[in-house]
Amino acid sequence: MKKMLPALAAALTLLAAGAAGAAEEKWSYAGETGPEYWGLLDPAYALCAQGASQSPVNLTGLIEADLEPLKFDYTGLVTKLRRANSTAQADHSAGSFLTAGGRTYELKQIHFHAPSEHMIEGQQFPLEAHFVHAAADGQLAVVAVLYNLGDENPELKKLWQQMPAKAGQEVGMAAQVRAEKLLPENRDYYRLSGSLTTPPCTEGVLWLILKNQSAVSEEQTRQFTELMGGPNSRPAQLLKARAVLQ
Ligand SMILES: [Zn+2]
Repeated sequence: MKKMLPALAAALTLLAAGAAGAAEEKWSYAGETGPEYWGLLDPAYALCAQGASQSPVNLTGLIEADLEPLKFDYTGLVTKLRRANSTAQADHSAGSFLTAGGRTYELKQIHFHAPSEHMIEGQQFPLEAHFVHAAADGQLAVVAVLYNLGDENPELKKLWQQMPAKAGQEVGMAAQVRAEKLLPENRDYYRLSGSLTTPPCTEGVLWLILKNQSAVSEEQTRQFTELMGGPNSRPAQLLKARAVLQ
């Protein structure tokens, strides 16, 4: 087996540690520790300010490409919900896979941002889910699902109902939540290279943003934002030299 890329392995560990509340987060989404200052808060966060391929972005200047369909082999269930200072994370049982661009990635966890981090041609959405996958060598592939305002989403309802009230807490799932049910039926997507959208903003992440949205109700969006203590989205970053394929 190939060795895990050290930067990405570290990022994945940080993601897990941060979400479990094990490490006190230095950064936030507002004020003096907000997104515009992330790059200054810690030398380890330098990429947040100086990176060449930071996420999220406004998806624009789309280039037609013959993208292979994404293959989702999702089985199993969400096992645990954890609250961090700045997000809620649903851990997923092992054995769910995504194949993209000839590589296979395993689903690790799902978390949410409100409002959306990615925009499509300048349009922002009320909610965005990130399905975080890792290949055997540590490379990350994140599938982003954007939500439109509409009917109450029954799968999100099960998640929100069991959400721990305080940062740092985690709970085992009683209701059965299948990751696949959180995806829209049509899985056409935009593809670009990017980064983690939270410090340390590690680059080399493959972003696959679904073109079709799922629905979330206004009340569910409000509940989530309230649970998180406010918006938890990084503003759009510059595309720089990157192309967005569709
Ligand atoms: Zn995210």
